[in-house]
Amino acid sequence: MTTHEVAAQLDRDDPLAAARKAFLLPPDTVYLDGNSLGALPASVPERVRRVVAEQWGEHLIGAWYEDGWWDAPLRVGDRLGRLLGAAPGQTVAGDSTSVQLFNALTAAARLRPGRDILLMDDAGFPTDRYLAASVARMLGLELREAPVSGFEEALADCGERLAVVTASAVDFRTGELWDLARLTAATHREGGVVVWDVSHAVGAVPLAVDRDGVDFAVGCGYKFLSGGPGAPAFGYAARRHHDHLDQPLTGWNGHTDPFAMTPDYRPAEGIARCRIGTPAILSLLALDAALDVFDGVDLRQLRRKSLSLSRFFIACVDEHLAGRGFELVTPRRDERRGSQLTLGHPEAARLMAALVERGITGDVRPPNLLRFGLNGLYVSHADVLTTVLALRSLT
Ligand SMILES: *Cc1c(COP(=O)(O)O)cnc(C)c1O
Repeated sequence: MTTHEVAAQLDRDDPLAAARKAFLLPPDTVYLDGNSLGALPASVPERVRRVVAEQWGEHLIGAWYEDGWWDAPLRVGDRLGRLLGAAPGQTVAGDSTSVQLFNALTAAARLRPGRDILLMDDAGFPTDRYLAASVARMLGLELREAPVSGFEEALADCGERLAVVTASAVDFRTGELWDLARLTAATHREGGVVVWDVSHAVGAVPLAVDRDGVDFAVGCGYKFLSGGPGAPAFGYAARRHHDHLDQPLTGWNGHTDPFAMTPDYRPAEGIARCRIGTPAILSLLALDAALDVFDGVDLRQLRRKSLSLSRFFIACVDEHLAGRGFELVTPRRDERRGSQLTLGHPEAARLMAALVERGITGDVRPPNLLRFGLNGLYVSHADVLTTVLALRSLT
C-alpha cells in the first residue's frame, strides 16, 4: 500500500471520524495547533449568544441563581473531573492555570510544615517555573530542579526535607508523557505532596487522578478542551486534603457564607474553598458548552486515535523525511507520548511559516522545534500525511 492508501484506510476505520463535525473548522484547514488553542466547537456560538442575550440581557442579576451562574465553577469543575478521573466535588473551574498553580503549590507546601524543599521539573512551562520560584521565595523553601526522568533519585536526595513536587504530565516541548501513578507514589514514599500540571494531557490522555493518589492537579481550559481563548483553568484537590486546605487566595467566593459579608474569612467546606473571586461567567459557560464535545466520547478510544495519529506521523517522517535535517524529538514508545509530535529542524521557523501559508497550522518553540498537536477529535491521518509531504517539498 502507498502511504496515501494507508492514511485513507486508517481514516475509514476511525470510530471518531464523525467527531470532527462537532467543530467549526474552516474548509481545507489542517489544524495541528489545538494543543495551544483548541478549535471552536459548534455548540459554543449559540450558547454564548443565549447566555448574553437571554440570561444577562433579560434575567439580569437574577441569572446568578436562575441560570445557575453561582454554581457554575463547581458544576463545570465536576464535568472536568470526569476527564481527570476525579469523583465529583474535587475540581473547581476558574481563573488561569497560573493562578491555580500558585494556589495549589502554596496550599500543598502548607500541608507539610517543617519540610523545606520544593522540587520542580527542570523543563517545565515558563509560568510554572516562575511561580514555583516565587512560592519558594515567599515560603522560605529551597527550590530544586531535576529532569522528570531523574525524579526518583532527586526525591530520595531530598529525603525528609521534601515538601512539594511539581511537574507537567506532558512536556510542552517534546510531548513526552510521564507516569503519574509511579511518580506520585514515589513522592508519597518520601512524605511529599505532588502538584501535577495536566495542561497538555487533559482532554487528550485518559487521567486517573483519584486512582493514582494525586494530591493536586491544575490545567488549562483552552488547549485540548477547546474552551476558547483565555478559557478558565481548573484546580483539583483530593478530598482527603480538603479539611486542612489552607489556600493563599482567600477570596470571598471561597467563604463558607459569602453573602453574610462577615469581616473574617472562614473557608467553605470541600472544594468550594478553592473558589476565589467572581468567575468570568461568559468564558466559563463557553467552556461548559465546549465540554459537550466530550459527552459520549470514550477517552480510551480518543487515546487510541491520538496514538494512531502520532504512530502514523512517525512512520511518515521515517519514510518521507529521512536525510532532510529532521530529528524526531517525541518518544517512539506509545506509552511515553502525549498527544503532540515534535520535530527538531535547524530551519524550524522558515518551515512553519511556509506550512501556515499552505493552510497547515502548527507552531514553533525555541530554539528549533516544530510542534504539531494531534487532537483526535478533529485531526485525521490524511492531515498528518499532507503535513509531512508539505515538509518534504520544503526541504
Ligand atoms: C498552557 C500552559 C499554561 C498556561 O498558563 P496560563 O496561566 O493559562 O497562561 C501553564 N502551564 C502549562 C504547563 C501549560 O501548558
